[in-house]
Amino acid sequence: MNKETYQFKLETFECMAINDGSFSYHQPGATFFSNAPQEALGQALQKHNIQLEHWEEFVSDYICLMINTGKHMVLVDTGAGNLGPDTGKLIQNLSKEGIAPEDIDLVIITHAHPDHIGGIVDAESKPSFPNARYVLSKQEWDFWISNPDLSSLKVSDQIKTLLLTFAQKNLLPIQDKLDLIEDETEIVPGIQIIAAPGHTPGHIALAISSADEQLLVIGDIIFHPIHLEHFQWSAAFDFDPDQVMSTRRRLFNRATTDKTLVHAFHFPFPGLGYIGQKGEGWQWQPIESAR
Ligand SMILES: [Zn+2]
Repeated sequence: MNKETYQFKLETFECMAINDGSFSYHQPGATFFSNAPQEALGQALQKHNIQLEHWEEFVSDYICLMINTGKHMVLVDTGAGNLGPDTGKLIQNLSKEGIAPEDIDLVIITHAHPDHIGGIVDAESKPSFPNARYVLSKQEWDFWISNPDLSSLKVSDQIKTLLLTFAQKNLLPIQDKLDLIEDETEIVPGIQIIAAPGHTPGHIALAISSADEQLLVIGDIIFHPIHLEHFQWSAAFDFDPDQVMSTRRRLFNRATTDKTLVHAFHFPFPGLGYIGQKGEGWQWQPIESAR
């Protein structure tokens, strides 16, 4: 299967999942399930054919989305730029599908972590998508610009510094192209912002709808299908784990009730699937197996 782009339709909207590349996370148990009891985590991983004691790396795809609504060319998240050796392929993968950076008129950023904002500017700190307006939640902007206290993150000081410098380096150059959003507004017809805080204070999700079809873009409220089975297990990068839990519950219920297609940025490419109820929790059904 082509793991660079995946085209699909949402009624009249032409959509595409685009891989920005992949990134290898070390110590994935501690990174993605930082508050999970070890024995329960071991059992949960085993069901996914992973041995906790031998789980040394987790390779995540970074999956952006392109939505051609007929009136607007909308990009959701910009990938990681030069964060890792295998990231920053967004623009080349778009161009293989005949889409130039100039064609995009709206870029929506789910939150200001490096893997989502690294492609906002090029090597010379110029906006990579010169004709676009950029949408970010006001809360997210205010947070990163205020030199925030990141002590609730269970990551090293080095990584905290990286998060902060990366956010400011990529957001400040587009300051005059930014639309800071405070409400759950419809940005353009068919694309609605949903507050989804916790992973970062101003993290947003999106409900994209065309006629009767809907796609729920959940960003980084989860990283691994086990987060659906155990929604109370949070990641070291989660700013407010309690808030993550309630955001997950709200969006999982919404996806289950409405039987909407869901996009998860860090899941195996193309990151599309459905969320079903299972016991006290939920489970992920990738689009390939749902067909
Ligand atoms: Zn991410």
